Amino acid sequence: MSAIDTLIALAIRPDIVAMHGYHVADASGYTKLDAMENPYQLPAPLLQELGARLAAATLNRYPVASYDTLKQKVCATLGVPAGYDVMLGNGSDELISILCMACARQDRRAVVLSPTPSFVMYARSAQYAGMDYVGVPLKADLTLDLPAMLAAIAEHRPALVFLSYPNNPTGNLFADSDIVAIIEALDGFGLAVVDEAYEPFAQQTFMDRLPQYDSLVVMRTVSKLGLAGIRLGYMSAAPALLAQLDKVRPPYNINVLTQTAAEFALDHVGVLNQQAAALRAARADLMAALAKFPGVQVFPSAANFILVRVPDAEAINAKLLSHKVLIKNVSKMHAVLTNCLRITVSTPAENATFLDAFAASLAA
Ligand SMILES: *Cc1c(COP(=O)(O)O)cnc(C)c1O
Repeated sequence: MSAIDTLIALAIRPDIVAMHGYHVADASGYTKLDAMENPYQLPAPLLQELGARLAAATLNRYPVASYDTLKQKVCATLGVPAGYDVMLGNGSDELISILCMACARQDRRAVVLSPTPSFVMYARSAQYAGMDYVGVPLKADLTLDLPAMLAAIAEHRPALVFLSYPNNPTGNLFADSDIVAIIEALDGFGLAVVDEAYEPFAQQTFMDRLPQYDSLVVMRTVSKLGLAGIRLGYMSAAPALLAQLDKVRPPYNINVLTQTAAEFALDHVGVLNQQAAALRAARADLMAALAKFPGVQVFPSAANFILVRVPDAEAINAKLLSHKVLIKNVSKMHAVLTNCLRITVSTPAENATFLDAFAASLAA
């Protein structure tokens, strides 16, 4: 072994050394439909105004650590119930990691549980924090297996259950009554984290039910709404619980550029909401167009992406790449996703580019 390998073997945890890094495809030159980004920018006059605001930000100073102004704007514009505050994260990815760090313990293994397939960061963050991860498979029709979830909760008594609502990568909303049953099953010992990353496209939320459940945490992000680049997530929960979680948050985790850009964008949230409405309309058009291809199964979607099952996902994905169209081949993620592809909904023009390439890829 070389000196550096010996160093790594002695200093770095073996389970980390054995892991693969989170792979992000290089998208330059491609029509990028793999990461659920909003294809629209803010309008040019707003971007100019934002430029002036960013130029005025005090880069030499630490951010004001309370983030009161931004948090108040988040609460006021994004439907957080009265009496509830939010905690901000450097993307909701950081909030997932903070939840795991706060619940991982020294005296015994703590458990993170989620349906699977779901957002990959739930299992990854659990592992980073040294927690056990339990995945409960979805049914073949991609709905939640409630009896299996409740049995797993009773067996493992998880500290955290992550529920992506709607679920990534399947796009569907789990039944409201199933989520309520899970929240109630966790009452007294565990947290149900309802991850509403796609709320602008689902227009369904558990935010207004926070006052009913101590176990409920509602997490969101501005990434899918159109601000993926600034990295801002937020979550709300009972104030006493949020105060505990906030101890784990790095004090200046939101940088002043993000803070400035987010405050500005929330002052113009109507523009983002219009873009979301355009994407919801484009989703309906794209789903209708996909449903016309023989041999292609289109799953219901409440998100800004669509899951389809095709005859040969590997071959079609390779052909789409040769047409310079980047989507996500999720067919190897889990048995229930065999031959499935996930396509981000974009502008009418990009959706047409995709549909042309898809038709050619299926025919070939
Ligand atoms: C994209 C996504 C996130 C990550 O959001 P960021 O705020 O960009 O870190 C979280 N949860 C789900 C389900 C997602 O699909």
